[in-house]
Amino acid sequence: MAYFRISFDLDDVIFNLKPLVKEAFKRAGQPYKKQTSWDIASIYDESVCNHLIDLWSDDMLYNMPVLDKRIPYILNSLIANKEMEIFFVTERRLKQPEKTFRQLRNAGINCSFSQVYDMPGLKSDILREIKPDLHFDDSPFVIKGCMEKDVPIVMISNDSTLYNHHLRPYVEYYANLRTALIKKGIYVSQKSL
Ligand SMILES: [Mg+2]
Repeated sequence: MAYFRISFDLDDVIFNLKPLVKEAFKRAGQPYKKQTSWDIASIYDESVCNHLIDLWSDDMLYNMPVLDKRIPYILNSLIANKEMEIFFVTERRLKQPEKTFRQLRNAGINCSFSQVYDMPGLKSDILREIKPDLHFDDSPFVIKGCMEKDVPIVMISNDSTLYNHHLRPYVEYYANLRTALIKKGIYVSQKSL
């Protein structure tokens, strides 16, 4: 297999943000509402948004569940593959790559610090520098940016990501990362061997 550079978004691709969002609604005393737009301030009221900000702490970050328990194992097999270079690229308010690195390690993902990018600037610009052969993301903003900047992209799109369904006609998408990696021939499922 050819040398292959692959990059991954974290939130709603590897990690599950839904428990955090549900908790914010609970604290605001409101029934949970699915995220239908990327701009949460336009769909959630101020009290929910404020609770979300309050909940975003180191503790929360280090205990955030993965979307699929098989994902750390799968990512570790890619990290261990000498023919691949793996990167984790996120765009968080904190812009502190050491925290993101610790979060990944806490989840059992054996990455090194040099594989983690969380820095100021547009993610699609950072990706243009990293030049992945393929990037996986759910953000409509990042997906559009990558399409404009010729960064090859696969979208993660499912019932929880209503905010990116409008891009389905324009970009290759799969419901989850494991399926996407298998369909792209990057990961071979043990069951299908
Ligand atoms: Mg994301």
